[in-house]
Amino acid sequence: MTSEPAIQIRGLTKTYANGKVALHGIDLDVPRGSMFGLLGPNGAGKSTTINILAGLVNKTGGSASIWGFDIDAHPRNAKASIGIVPQEIVFDAFFSPFEVLELQAGLYGVPKEKRRTMELLRAVRLEDKAHAYSRTLSGGMKRRLLVAKALVHNPPIVVLDEPTAGVDIELRQQLWAYVRELHAEGATVVLTTHYLEEAEELCDRIAIINHGRVVANEETKTLLSTAGDKVVVVTVDRDLDAAPAGLPASKVELQDGRRLAITYDKRTTNAGAVLQALSAAGLGVVDVSTREADLEDVFLSLTREAA
Ligand code: ADP
Ligand code: MG
Repeated sequence: MTSEPAIQIRGLTKTYANGKVALHGIDLDVPRGSMFGLLGPNGAGKSTTINILAGLVNKTGGSASIWGFDIDAHPRNAKASIGIVPQEIVFDAFFSPFEVLELQAGLYGVPKEKRRTMELLRAVRLEDKAHAYSRTLSGGMKRRLLVAKALVHNPPIVVLDEPTAGVDIELRQQLWAYVRELHAEGATVVLTTHYLEEAEELCDRIAIINHGRVVANEETKTLLSTAGDKVVVVTVDRDLDAAPAGLPASKVELQDGRRLAITYDKRTTNAGAVLQALSAAGLGVVDVSTREADLEDVFLSLTREAA
């Protein structure tokens, strides 16, 4: 039982009523206790996947189980095991944060003595607003209220769908600090984000989806180390108008007059060959540095071709 993944997805497909195929049969395991990043460009199918788990979107085919409960066979248990912070902010503007959480607790059948409404409001720093109309909250406060709302039934899995899109840096950091705390207390966390540095920093495992297909699913450090791309940044001895052509590189970027960022595939070439090619092109090199690919490079190379 404990070795079973927190979330298991098999052959999951979704075709929307308008004929749009959002998921082409994805397989995904989210290990228990992990901090899992689900990344992908806009329209990749991240929210569709999450909304199917939430019971908000009906799948077309395939299966999914949450904490060992199949979403078709045991929908109530499956739902009780997961708390989802949706991408869109939706709740009744006329209820106060306190009421929003109490209603949600009622919906999930959490008995009065087990409710932690004020504790949750404190955790997301909304205790001062407990009895204000939700419509008077700022965007960031609404987002925090949604986080608290996802936690009222104390689920072992918490899913955050782009929780920091359009959110200022301070709030983002607060939110992540809180998510880290939840994770440290044992929660399995799944998050989608556009901010690749955040995923790289927070997640121990990352899946990348593109056009409704899983194109990578690795431990973060493996994903970064198996990336073929490497970048060498060189400063040459004179100003250039354009990046030189004919280098053994997948991308050559002129950063300013004399500095070039050259991306190459470390499986087929090396920095020495790049430097030789520069010298053959008549350019003297006065400074060199290299860096390993970061998640953004990996992401771009995996999602580029199919775009
Ligand atoms: P992501 O969250 O990765 O940005 P989504 O899961 O929201 O992607 O969307 C995946 C694809 O499905 C997109 O092409 C999107 O336009 C389409 N889509 C999403 N919701 C609907 C819907 N209700 N009806 C039709 N197409 C939809
Ligand atoms: Mg989305």
